[in-house]
Amino acid sequence: MIQVGVNGYGTIGKRVADAIRAQPDMAVAGVAKTSPNFEAKVALERGYPLYAVDAERTAAFDDAGFDLAGTVDELVADSDVVVDATPAGVGAENAELYREHDTPAIFQGGEDPDVAEVSFNARASYEAARGADSVRVVSCNTTGLSRLFAPIAEAYGIEKARVTLVRRGGDPGQTDRGPINDTLPDPVEIPSHHGPDLNTVFPDLDVDTMGMKVPATLMHTHSVNVTLEREADAESVRELLDAESRLFVLPPELDIDGAGKLKEFAQDAGRPRGDCWENCIWGDSITVEGRDLYLFQAIHQEADVVPENVDAVRAVADTADREESTTLTEDAIGLDG
Ligand code: NAD
Repeated sequence: MIQVGVNGYGTIGKRVADAIRAQPDMAVAGVAKTSPNFEAKVALERGYPLYAVDAERTAAFDDAGFDLAGTVDELVADSDVVVDATPAGVGAENAELYREHDTPAIFQGGEDPDVAEVSFNARASYEAARGADSVRVVSCNTTGLSRLFAPIAEAYGIEKARVTLVRRGGDPGQTDRGPINDTLPDPVEIPSHHGPDLNTVFPDLDVDTMGMKVPATLMHTHSVNVTLEREADAESVRELLDAESRLFVLPPELDIDGAGKLKEFAQDAGRPRGDCWENCIWGDSITVEGRDLYLFQAIHQEADVVPENVDAVRAVADTADREESTTLTEDAIGLDG
């Protein structure tokens, strides 16, 4: 059993902990939090040993009546691998702690690429991460684009990709985020940071990205145009993408017009928290004009990096190859395409 500590138990950390617990070859050593909020309460109810980020914060947990197993230093010492799901920038501050304990660490996409040896996406860079001391699971958007571009590049070659990312203003729980009544170019600069981030996974990919932010919380939506190196037709592209377990090509008969129905579908299907772990690609949008491929995809920002984190644990522990790991991960959480 790989003992996995989860440092930072928020939007990503709580989902990763549940996915780790579902794996046959992993156990949750514990989860670490800064404050005794509702997520800490649920962590205890789920039986996760709860750790405070440092000794100064233990009093707040004691006052709230939350039993602590210790501080994060002890959690890191007792873990074979740590998943750091702290807010952007905090992971880099924690890197030294993981090095001191010689505990391999998985960072998240909010960190700069140089926080880790490898920018990780299970489909595109699993092998490069095997046995590494540190990897960074790339952001939700970069994960969604990596999963899409890897099979397209293999099958047809990519001459040039252009993506407009229509981004949710904040997650449902982020009541301090916006906009609440506007449509923002964000960032205004072109390319947005997403293209260079994608190049940390695909160094040779020629890609331009533009970002926007809109008053929505459910998902991001990508408008994608790829100029292929070789001729293709829409049906063969649809079949290619449909064969990928983490790409869900939406058939028109499901009558799903946006993120709201996607979430509803996931909830009706019994997915935890209504999570859509896969990219959701509108099948009818897959269009090829000459060598230009077009499509729309929705990315559930809270969920798509979850299976990637699980695979990243096996990659750094070097206990499985990509095929074995992705199959194990998907079977255990119930990701059946
Ligand atoms: P979050 O704010 O929901 O959760 C972070 C958790 O870490 C909170 O529980 C917070 O209390 C805790 N925390 C704060 N400081 C800490 C510290 N010093 N030590 C331990 N825990 C600490 O954040 P999130 O959305 O889960 O994001 C985590 C990481 O994942 C970021 O790098 C982010 O960029 C990335 N990410 C987020 C999303 C998303 O849509 N939410 C998607 C992909 C990647």
